[in-house]
Amino acid sequence: MSKPILWIVIPCYNEEQVLPITAPMFLKKINDLSAAGLVSEKSRVLFVNDGSRDATWSLIQKFASEDDHLIGISQSRNRGHQNAVLAGLMEALHSGSCDITISIDCDGQDDINAMDEMVKKYLDGAEVVYGVRSRRDTDTFFKRFTAEGFYHVMNALGADIVFNHADYRLISTRVLESFADYREVNIFLRGMVPLVGYPSDTVYYERHERLAGESHYPLSKMLTLAFDGITSLSNKPIRLITGAGIAVSLISFIGVIWAIVQAVLGSAVAGWASTICIVCFMGGVQLVCLGVIGEYVGKIYMETKARPRYIISERTWAPYERKYHG
Ligand code: UDP
Ligand code: MG
Repeated sequence: MSKPILWIVIPCYNEEQVLPITAPMFLKKINDLSAAGLVSEKSRVLFVNDGSRDATWSLIQKFASEDDHLIGISQSRNRGHQNAVLAGLMEALHSGSCDITISIDCDGQDDINAMDEMVKKYLDGAEVVYGVRSRRDTDTFFKRFTAEGFYHVMNALGADIVFNHADYRLISTRVLESFADYREVNIFLRGMVPLVGYPSDTVYYERHERLAGESHYPLSKMLTLAFDGITSLSNKPIRLITGAGIAVSLISFIGVIWAIVQAVLGSAVAGWASTICIVCFMGGVQLVCLGVIGEYVGKIYMETKARPRYIISERTWAPYERKYHG
């Protein structure tokens, strides 16, 4: 088998502080991997600028002009991490000169040395290799607790996601070709990639602190991602609501019978407190149910519009004629 051409796909949003540190690291990794005979010399580092407002894109352009192994594409505006990774993966697929991709964040948190093992697992037959965090000590207790809870909830809801795996993974272009047919607008890569199938494997790595700059995932964005993940992959919350509705109705029914019995026995008291409690409780339950159903209706609305998930406005390379969005 000839050596595979690897593209390292790296989303960047306002990363001017960290790029000068990590870009040379990624380039060195490509060189080392090709020197070790694991990947082809034609391998590339692809930076995806996700509509940054700082000097990120001009830095990428500068790096690209200095080394042919580094290329960049820029999105017309910020579309979020998942869409930026997707844009990069599709660029690699459509280039026609890529066999495997590895997606990784640009902040140096994920250990790039795990790539060697990922490529070896690919050479041994895996088409997808998931990078799994062996430790989460660098995360705060709160992040660790909520993240682990999230994986448990996802799996309980029937979504097949790999525990403690984020978006550090190897995917072959064979898998990407099938993946390109998953046309949903709300994308949650770590839940969608396992759906494609193909043989997969895992590689454990340690997650470090960010080398510079700040996280773009505050609590609100993390919750959005978690909620999107759950509602794009599972219909179970809707079923749970139906179940909860039936349970609450049964309890209310028992309450009504109890009230009638009390009335017949003549021991009914002015039931102000219990009435208020029941009204409030029912109101709350109904609002939650409406909210969850609304979330799904909103998703249907966005999916029927089928808007492009990324729009590439600029490239540091001009390899082929093709549409600029997907
Ligand atoms: N990122 C992006 N678009 C965004 C937010 C983040 O492309 O809207 C990139 C960011 O540059 C980084 C990766 O996604 O390479 C992960 O983001 P970050 O490190 O801020 O998240 P954390 O590691 O704290 O969860
Ligand atoms: Mg990070």
